[in-house]
Amino acid sequence: MSLGNPRDFKEICRFAKEEALRLEDQLRTWRRDLHMHPELGLREHRTSALAAAHLQSLGIEVQTGVGGTGVVGLLRAGGGAGGSAGAGEHTVALRADMDALPIQEATGAPYASQAPGVMHACGHDGHVAMLLGAATILAGVREALPGNVKFIFQPAEESPGGARPMIEAGVLANPPVEAIFGAHLWAELPTGTVGIRHGTMMAAVDQFRILIKGEGGHGAAPHQAVDAICVAAQAVLSLQTIASRQIDPLEPVVLTIGTMNGGYRHNVIADRVELTGTVRTLSEKVREEMPVRIERTLRGITEASGAGYELAYERVYPETINAPEPTRLVADVAAEMFGKGRVVETKAPEMGSEDFSFFLKEAPGTFFMVGIANPEKGIIHPHHHPAFDIDENALAIGTAVEVAAVLIQLSLLGHSSGNL
Ligand code: MN
Repeated sequence: MSLGNPRDFKEICRFAKEEALRLEDQLRTWRRDLHMHPELGLREHRTSALAAAHLQSLGIEVQTGVGGTGVVGLLRAGGGAGGSAGAGEHTVALRADMDALPIQEATGAPYASQAPGVMHACGHDGHVAMLLGAATILAGVREALPGNVKFIFQPAEESPGGARPMIEAGVLANPPVEAIFGAHLWAELPTGTVGIRHGTMMAAVDQFRILIKGEGGHGAAPHQAVDAICVAAQAVLSLQTIASRQIDPLEPVVLTIGTMNGGYRHNVIADRVELTGTVRTLSEKVREEMPVRIERTLRGITEASGAGYELAYERVYPETINAPEPTRLVADVAAEMFGKGRVVETKAPEMGSEDFSFFLKEAPGTFFMVGIANPEKGIIHPHHHPAFDIDENALAIGTAVEVAAVLIQLSLLGHSSGNL
């Protein structure tokens, strides 16, 4: 097999699928071990130690403590340590997030979480297992690799975000990453399917905190006070009209006020109310307008009542935008390995968010979904649910797509610059 030749597309796909299926028991073992020992964001010490140890055992160069608890493996083309020349100039990356959630598991599974109040309820345990599997398979063919592969094990996807600190620590440089792929196990899709989407796939997320500042007083004498509760209530409703009355109805936007806190007792007028919320958008233009519109609404409402306000607005994760060619590549390898009918183009973007978006701002790539739902096995719960579980048959599918995507992408990069 010549991995450096794109004409070997079918052969590469067959190889990736066979190898992934052969690793199925190991994938399940890793996933269950990780599932039993979930760790919250930036505390993924056991998980990153496990990843680093396995990469080292494969003879892959390993860096630990990248952007917190992150781990990066670099598998060099031709198996050379210290930078072999030629085809090895090209580098492609795969990324898995490692963090769990502060949820008490209620699956009753024999491999349920052993950490009270912490659970892999988003499938990141499976993402780590698949990336370990991909590293195992690719290290096995290092002599024939048409380029370098970076394996990125990222902390804290859920919060506060580990992608940006890893990028700032140089994970996409030295050697520079020319394409990146990330997988998410996905409860909205049945096992056996792979979900892709061209262009914008997930929303940008921002968050804000508003303080409404009134004037306290007696509940029987509103004319001597400025009622922060009343002003906050107007603000909550008026802020909703940004989405319904100010933004183009064909531009998706969500503004949610998640908390509202203020007041002391039934006959005391509150002098302050705090609101917190989140904004989701799918276009950078709307994203930039939202804090301006929120501020304008607050200024008007508070001024009309003689109150004041403070607004703290924080941009969190950008939109997840898939590049055309890597997305088509994932669709093509998945169709070749599992059948055309198993590749699903999701019909609309998600209003959920992902910090894989930061990687996609730096390098062309794609984020794809691997179906995990299987009602026959009782696997029906949504992400972040206490009974969330995955159909483990999906692990080999995700691993196979990762391996095939990397090999084809590397051979295309080598081909286009005449390195064959
Ligand atoms: Mn997730």
